[in-house]
Amino acid sequence: KQAGRDGVAFFDPEMEASIHARHRLQRELAQAIESGELRLYLQPQIDGRGNTVGAEALVRWLRPDGTLVPPGQFIPLAEETGLIVPLGDWVLSQALALLAGWQRDPALAGRRLAINVSPAQFRDPGFGTRIQQLLAQHGVDPRLLELEITESVFLHDLDAARDTLRTLDALGVSLALDDFGTGYSSLAYLAELPFDVIKIDQRFVARLQQPNRQDEAIVTTIIALGRKLRMQVLAEGVETAQQEDYLLAHGCHLLQGYRFGRPMPIEQFETQLRAQPAA
Ligand code: C2E
Ligand code: CA
Ligand code: CA
Ligand code: CA
Repeated sequence: KQAGRDGVAFFDPEMEASIHARHRLQRELAQAIESGELRLYLQPQIDGRGNTVGAEALVRWLRPDGTLVPPGQFIPLAEETGLIVPLGDWVLSQALALLAGWQRDPALAGRRLAINVSPAQFRDPGFGTRIQQLLAQHGVDPRLLELEITESVFLHDLDAARDTLRTLDALGVSLALDDFGTGYSSLAYLAELPFDVIKIDQRFVARLQQPNRQDEAIVTTIIALGRKLRMQVLAEGVETAQQEDYLLAHGCHLLQGYRFGRPMPIEQFETQLRAQPAA
């Protein structure tokens, strides 16, 4: 192909194709939110006695051809394009409807449900009011809703983020700091923010039992820190019995990972709980 008179290519066909693909994906995702192609999958969260105390909701996109698209393939695009706000609102309203159903069912009542809140959603001034409205509409106990927030929300405006967190805390919902240790964690802010739960990122858990003892030091230090600050400490990405034993022996309160269950359709999660003695 000729690259123009000066030998300068103004249009890179490959780049153009990828821009087209992105636009198409963006249109399809907007449509998917409208037409109900998103699904919540639930991954169990377990306490030290093996009881399922709740679940994290993880979104998937079930396309009309039956393929299940993982969030890594559309959440970043949703964040860049602002679609994350309607997507997040869909997750939130699904979560509250689900919690309302659980409350009415003795086999499921008392379990909490954690949802992921993206920075754009967190910064939306109407977010707290929306939660309050949905809690009231569904008559859900606020303590059963957990909001997972990543450190990135503190990057730009710590004061504004702190105010939002305090507003959310005042609603009585549970607040979890997600992916702890991977971002811009500052011990100074951790102590003054109203988090109820710290989630140890799975990359630290994955490196336990490797010859490198430094990762054990990081994990045990996060657990000790969380406990000192009277937060619950949850380890993500627990895959092996050795990781489970190590974490529990060092005082970690809650565990989540393939060892206890992969993210699964809601009905499957509920069936498993019904087969379990009440927590
Ligand atoms: P995350 O919040 O850190 O979620 C944990 C991810 O680790 C999930 O990936 C989960 O399937 C995976 N995982 C759980 N246990 C294990 C394990 O034992 N081993 C390994 N290797 N992986 C494990 P998933 O479902 O693909 O979600 C990826 C990310 O997408 C999430 O990371 C979260 O940041 C984002 N995401 C998912 N759902 C939502 C949502 O509704 N809203 C927003 N804003 N983000 C979401
Ligand atoms: Ca999460
Ligand atoms: Ca609180
Ligand atoms: Ca995480």
